[in-house]
Amino acid sequence: MLTRTNQKNGDELSILGFGCMRLPKNGREIDEQRSIEMIHDAIKNGVNYFDTAYVYNNGRSESVLGAALAGGWREKVKIATKLPPFMVKTLANAKKIMNTQLSRLQTDSIDYYLLHMLTDISMYERLASLGVMEWLEEMKKTGIVKNIGFSFHGGKKDFELILKAYPWDFCQIQYNYMDENNQATKDGLLLAAEMGIPVIVMEPLRGGKLVTHLPESVIKEFASQKPEKSPVEWALRWVWNHPQVNVVLSGMSDETQLKDNIRIASDSTANSLTEDELKVFEQVKTVMLEKTKIPCTGCGYCMPCPFGVDIPGCFSCYNDKYLMNDKSARFRYFQIMGSLSHIPAVASQCHGCGKCESHCPQKIEIRKQLKTITREFEGPLYRPIVTVVRKVMRVK
Ligand code: SF4
Ligand code: SF4
Repeated sequence: MLTRTNQKNGDELSILGFGCMRLPKNGREIDEQRSIEMIHDAIKNGVNYFDTAYVYNNGRSESVLGAALAGGWREKVKIATKLPPFMVKTLANAKKIMNTQLSRLQTDSIDYYLLHMLTDISMYERLASLGVMEWLEEMKKTGIVKNIGFSFHGGKKDFELILKAYPWDFCQIQYNYMDENNQATKDGLLLAAEMGIPVIVMEPLRGGKLVTHLPESVIKEFASQKPEKSPVEWALRWVWNHPQVNVVLSGMSDETQLKDNIRIASDSTANSLTEDELKVFEQVKTVMLEKTKIPCTGCGYCMPCPFGVDIPGCFSCYNDKYLMNDKSARFRYFQIMGSLSHIPAVASQCHGCGKCESHCPQKIEIRKQLKTITREFEGPLYRPIVTVVRKVMRVK
């Protein structure tokens, strides 16, 4: 197992992190015995970063990880777990949640503690205004929390704002070969690295869609180059090729995936992809692009929009709905385009000024497409839902 050094604290972290959100199941429940065996097997093979969250599997993910690490295993690994912002209305809520987490995990310290799934700066600001950051710093002084970070699922602008709002010990972003220009984006990854903030990558396979929802022609494209490499291997190696990435999380649900990932992680060094291999990804992206509704490459030449629309972000959510048959595309649009942020970037903000269109190398009729997206993703219920959720979440 290869490791990379956490540039902030010197931790040697395995490049493969075990995501405990998709532990094997027996019916609807986590198969505890099998999960524990898989976790032990991962540790024996050098995996030393385990990621869970308060809300995963209604708390069972944390409990099963705690059970697996009892009896001497805990000392061999780093535990990452997360505080769910939507459950934190007061500082007392946050303290209670952490106490529960320590008890579920059967530990007296959490190595990497994250604010879970921030989508915009206002989420961070609300938690900060409750005193959460000061309290986490106290926890750090006492050694109960070792590193403070956040996981992110919003747009590039908010990622940069959050990154600069606090001296984070680390961050966690979604990143894969189809998301180079989405969410935090490659620019966000590079910015974090430039600021010396370690980056944990989640969703290297986009929740499995880069395996299960790949068009046949893409599978053929990969196979034509290196038939022995699966789409999983291509996708993982692409992320590890980035020297700015510290750990890649994989939510492993069975022993075969674990074995396969361990094998791939044994020699996936940074900058190891050859020029020919990198060309394959360009070809794959071209194929994917041909199949997209809007041929946006995410180049960003149309930006910034004077009215704050995240044009490539809107197009990406829309394209995913069709290309990846993504049933959650509308929800992701709601989340990623900052519907709850005080700087939203949704399609309906377009005033039709036309400034963007002359810059688009793909000659996309941006205004027309944004109208279509507004119709599809921002139906009559969109505004009332946003208003209610903002009230519940106390977003100003
Ligand atoms: S046409 Fe719409 S999206 Fe384009 S710059 Fe103007 S307001 Fe922004
Ligand atoms: S300029 Fe065109 S291709 Fe580039 S991000 Fe904007 S819409 Fe997409």
